[in-house]
Amino acid sequence: MSQDDKFKKLVAHCKEYGFIFQSSELYDGLGAVYDYGPNGSELKNNIKNYWWQSMVQMHENIVGIDAAIFMHPKTWKASGHVDAFNDPLIDNKDSKKRYRADVLVEDYIDKIEAKINKEITKAQKRFGDAFDEVQFRATNPRVLANVEKMETIAKRLATAMSDGDLADIKALVEELGIACPVSGSRNWTDVRQFNLMFSTQLGNVAGEEDKLYLRPETAQGIFVNFLNVQKTSRQKVPFGIAQIGKAFRNEIVARQFIFRMREFEQMEMQFFVRPGEEMKWYDYWKKARMKWHQAINHPAEKLRYHDHDNLAHYANAAVDIQFEFPFGFKELEGIHSRTDFDLKQHQELSGRKIQYFDPELQENYIPYVVETSIGVDRMFLAVMSHALQEEVVPDADGKDSSRVVLKIHPALAPVKCAVLPLLKNKEELTSKARAVFDKLKFSFNCQYDEKDAIGRRYRRQDAIGTPYCITIDFDTLEDDTVTIRERDTLEQKRISINEIEKIVNEGVDMKALFLEKEDQLV
Ligand code: ATP
Repeated sequence: MSQDDKFKKLVAHCKEYGFIFQSSELYDGLGAVYDYGPNGSELKNNIKNYWWQSMVQMHENIVGIDAAIFMHPKTWKASGHVDAFNDPLIDNKDSKKRYRADVLVEDYIDKIEAKINKEITKAQKRFGDAFDEVQFRATNPRVLANVEKMETIAKRLATAMSDGDLADIKALVEELGIACPVSGSRNWTDVRQFNLMFSTQLGNVAGEEDKLYLRPETAQGIFVNFLNVQKTSRQKVPFGIAQIGKAFRNEIVARQFIFRMREFEQMEMQFFVRPGEEMKWYDYWKKARMKWHQAINHPAEKLRYHDHDNLAHYANAAVDIQFEFPFGFKELEGIHSRTDFDLKQHQELSGRKIQYFDPELQENYIPYVVETSIGVDRMFLAVMSHALQEEVVPDADGKDSSRVVLKIHPALAPVKCAVLPLLKNKEELTSKARAVFDKLKFSFNCQYDEKDAIGRRYRRQDAIGTPYCITIDFDTLEDDTVTIRERDTLEQKRISINEIEKIVNEGVDMKALFLEKEDQLV
């Protein structure tokens, strides 16, 4: 199955099983805005809990806040978003479609990378076990030429972006012969800057000065609260402030499902450190965040670091953690060393001192900041795209049958355990199953299901990633035992009703994810 087909299946699966619906679908939808359904909201909450606990609960020196979406308009002047939070847009005159010019160039680079990978796959087939990829990459003239081409284009784009040289970005699009994917034409407008912030107005004021913005990142709510939080929580540098919340960006091109949305959710942590110590903490968080991703069984080869070629106006170092989505490696999380840019700017524009007195050094300073910033929705997409699988397994009669299974980490699974009476129309079975369900629901999210044959019910639970199914049969009525079926191994065991809670709790416990990380607590 092609990657494209896989992605289409994923989108369809998200809808069919109540994970994600397009917003306002009834009115034909709203571009790049999505709603999470019953299973989706459970999974989203579990992802948020996993992040929150790993930050706030596992680190004595990280505290959480929940700041408002609306902020004083000066916030966005200070942060640089009013003047610099722009994307370069370009229109195709024939199709009238609008694109991000930098993304058109990046897509072109991705195509060259795909060519390199194709070359490698071909060689791998030809040489078999004797194939040495590192050597091939270092010596094959076609690969070397393509790598050089990629690097030259990426460098030129990065320079043009950081210089705001819109004419050169357009020149690049033209020189590379990039055509509009819709019309196929190369008839482009000039490149223009487009500010990504949504604006609105307070009820009782009018005029440009008092324009309100929907926050494009959660970070500024943390910066403006730095002193409030530091004083009330009595934290000493180094310490962090974490937050989960909605952010809004008027993205020019909304594509790839929940990868790029206009309303999305971020999980950000700003870590305040002594000036000069930021690179130490930058390295620390780079590693810690990679471990967080791998702990939920995302394999190392699906994750990689990608250093920024084009640093944002506030950063002195920045790296992305990229994930291999169905449409290739793309940014999942950013780790940025933001210097003292934001706090300094807020100090200047507010006219209030934002200083920290370091009791050990006996001096005042504006702390430096290392931030980790990840989109909940992108993480959701990473989890779903890795977990959704089709496989052939033996059915109840021992024959091969295919199943769609969501092999999600049990700690993130929307439903932890399904309780299934063997037959629907046997009251003694259904009332027993109800009693088991009513007991378990106090401990974790359970589902009771009596409709359809047991095999079909198993498949339904597989499709939403439920790690355990409990079947109540006639033996249960005799000896209080049940069958517990494990999603991935399909192993079925007979256990006592009293053991269910302990077994499921152990299997779905988030603690296991943190224990692996114990060695790297701050
Ligand atoms: P991109 O280059 O993909 O536009 P970015 O570099 O602008 O992303 P950041 O400003 O670093 O992104 O935001 C931090 C994180 O927020 C990203 O790593 C991503 O997970 C998430 N994010 C940013 N924009 C969106 C969006 N439009 N939709 C969903 N998630 C987003």
